[in-house]
Amino acid sequence: MVYTANLGFPRIGSGRELKKATESFWKGDLTEEQLRAEARRLRAANWQLQRQNGVDFIPSNDFSLYDQVLDTSVMVGAIPEIYGWNGGPVSLETYFAMARGTRGRAEGDLPALEMTKWFDTNYHYLVPEFTQEQSFTLASTKPVDEFLEAQALGLQTRPVLLGPVSYLLLGKCVGEDFDPLTLLPRLLPVYGEVLRRLAEAGADWVQLDEPCLALDLTETTQAALKQAYSYLAEASGSLKVMLTSYFGGLGDNLETTLQLPVSGVHLDLVRAPDQLDRVLSSAPGHLTLSLGVVDGRNVWRSDLESILERIAPVVEARGADRLVIAPSCSLLHVPIDLELETELDPDLKSWLAFAVQKVEEVSVLGRALNEGRAAVTAPLESSERAVEARRTSPKIHDAAVETRLQCITRDMARRTSDHAERRVVQQQNLKLPDFPTTTIGSFPQTEEIRKARAAFTKGRMSSADYQSFLKRETEAAVRRQEEIGLDVLVHGEFERNDMVQYFGEQLSGFAFTRHGWVQSFGTRYVRPPILYGDVSRPAPMTVEMTAYAQSLTERPVKGMLTGPVTLLQWSFVRDDQPRERTCRQIALALRDEVADLEQAGIRVIQIDEPAFREGLPLRRAHWRRYLDWAVECFRLAASVVSDETQIHTHMCYSEFNDIMDAIAAMDADVISIETARSKMELLEAFTTFRYPNEIGPGVYDIHAPRCPEAREMTELLREASKRLDARQIWVNPDCGLKTRSWEEVSPALANMVAAARDLRAQAA
Ligand code: GLN
Ligand code: ZN
Repeated sequence: MVYTANLGFPRIGSGRELKKATESFWKGDLTEEQLRAEARRLRAANWQLQRQNGVDFIPSNDFSLYDQVLDTSVMVGAIPEIYGWNGGPVSLETYFAMARGTRGRAEGDLPALEMTKWFDTNYHYLVPEFTQEQSFTLASTKPVDEFLEAQALGLQTRPVLLGPVSYLLLGKCVGEDFDPLTLLPRLLPVYGEVLRRLAEAGADWVQLDEPCLALDLTETTQAALKQAYSYLAEASGSLKVMLTSYFGGLGDNLETTLQLPVSGVHLDLVRAPDQLDRVLSSAPGHLTLSLGVVDGRNVWRSDLESILERIAPVVEARGADRLVIAPSCSLLHVPIDLELETELDPDLKSWLAFAVQKVEEVSVLGRALNEGRAAVTAPLESSERAVEARRTSPKIHDAAVETRLQCITRDMARRTSDHAERRVVQQQNLKLPDFPTTTIGSFPQTEEIRKARAAFTKGRMSSADYQSFLKRETEAAVRRQEEIGLDVLVHGEFERNDMVQYFGEQLSGFAFTRHGWVQSFGTRYVRPPILYGDVSRPAPMTVEMTAYAQSLTERPVKGMLTGPVTLLQWSFVRDDQPRERTCRQIALALRDEVADLEQAGIRVIQIDEPAFREGLPLRRAHWRRYLDWAVECFRLAASVVSDETQIHTHMCYSEFNDIMDAIAAMDADVISIETARSKMELLEAFTTFRYPNEIGPGVYDIHAPRCPEAREMTELLREASKRLDARQIWVNPDCGLKTRSWEEVSPALANMVAAARDLRAQAA
């Protein structure tokens, strides 16, 4: 008998119940007991759903009130001193203080833990903090409690824990610099204790997630894995460990993994289908293999027949009872229930599967293997029909797009001249002072703007009224910028709900869900677009508003676009063609927009690529290839313009050291980056590399609710001048201003302009 499993189910509730309950609790409208009751209700509903589908291994402890890494820190008592925990159970107050900081406390406010991306997903976890003297202790029995909670409902679950090695690797050291893995011997007893208690409570399996297995690991880390799992094998007694890897193949960690004393290993066969053969030939016979064949990272329906075809010989070779069929990873990263999407195109809908549907797929696969195909004829046939329909649908395939792709030439991705020459003609065209000032694009999205957009979307405001409202806002923003004295203006992006959605809605090939929420962090959920078909641009997207803004002023207005890599990265994308091909299609569509902007008299165009770095593959060996096509796509979008037109790009992070050559290869005339928080340190990368083009190191940290003084910004610019040629330097904030208020923005920008003038005066 083949078993079926799930590695994790989305916890937010299909109607975003967890967000609503948590935010009500924060506001004081819900008691802790009410919040906990809602959480219990969500867990129970998820478990029941999986049980109804006959899933053999149903996860528990996959639920979290905020984040599973934070839960792990709380479990092992890694709670930084500032949160004032003195042992004993960790209160919800402490938990949420770590998650989001505190506001308005008499004793002074506490900062939140740092947040960062969970591997190559758009989920953000709270970074554990370790000191060299760090000690660990069992501070929360959540995994046991939730196991017992399910048991009380008559369900035997497989608790999920983040494995000790990945947990340590995800953390950061505070104080001295040291290797967090040196803390492993202190951490393991706590994990051992949890496993003992789970066994005592009646668990037979536990799922230990070690996503680090998909990364390049040093020998030290591989040794740490051996140490950890040998220890846990001792501690767990009869409790069996399913060690899960996901988001990629085991690669050179395969040998280490197969040597670990665990009862089962889970493989991501969606991201790394090829590893199956290697595993089959070297896995010890007693090892249970969990085959992650249903894509947990994307929204497409599985091709069940082809999966069965692949699994059949495995069943043959290893016998059924040491095989588990599962999604490739936790379903945390996909929306919950496709059935809620009543407005989606029926064809597209028939090609999709969200979490609920993926659980059903796993169950159908299990039944087909155990009871024979005849037991599940209808779902198998329906899957086959969907796969076939999708393959041939005219909704996906656009011959014109195909032709354009084939006609791409190398030259299309090259500017006519190099930057040194472009600089001269751009200077004649734009006549900007030294240290030119600009902003990153968006201006405050005020209450009024949000209300107008909601009214328009709900049909309560006519399109004409909405357009004239937007134009008034834009005009006001142009006037403010002139008053402040900025050199290169922007229109303010008031018409944009979101930098991806706004473009996706106007491009062919993108679809949007109503309820397809995915947790980004805590109570922040996003609804990524579904990029299902060939991409083209039926009509100009930003030209009218940009040209309107330009018509109001003599100063150059910068056109504002979201770049191809970012549009790709922040969407669910096609799995029927390589990502780079999809990205090229987007690049061509944007290229049309860039050409039209130039035609409309726009002399400066910014193509934002905040997701450029996060597209990097998990394994170094795959970086080059990604960077090559990502850079090429950016250039394809940008290089349609003449030398006179100035291309900007923007990236809002600060790690450039290891991708500097690619950043330079993008060949934007100007790049703006985040530097204010790191006090210009990151400029080192640009200095060491001798970045050839122009650069705007953000001098105003827009994330902090404070107004920077001109002095501070002058100082930062002086630092920048030490490292770069003064003629390379632009003056700008470090990101868009949409989350701020005008009361904050106006004086801050005025100070920024004063700082630039100060520098010009000193240089003169
Ligand atoms: N142009 C966008 C803005 O100003 C850029 C946002 C971003 O970098 N994430 O909002
Ligand atoms: Zn930014």
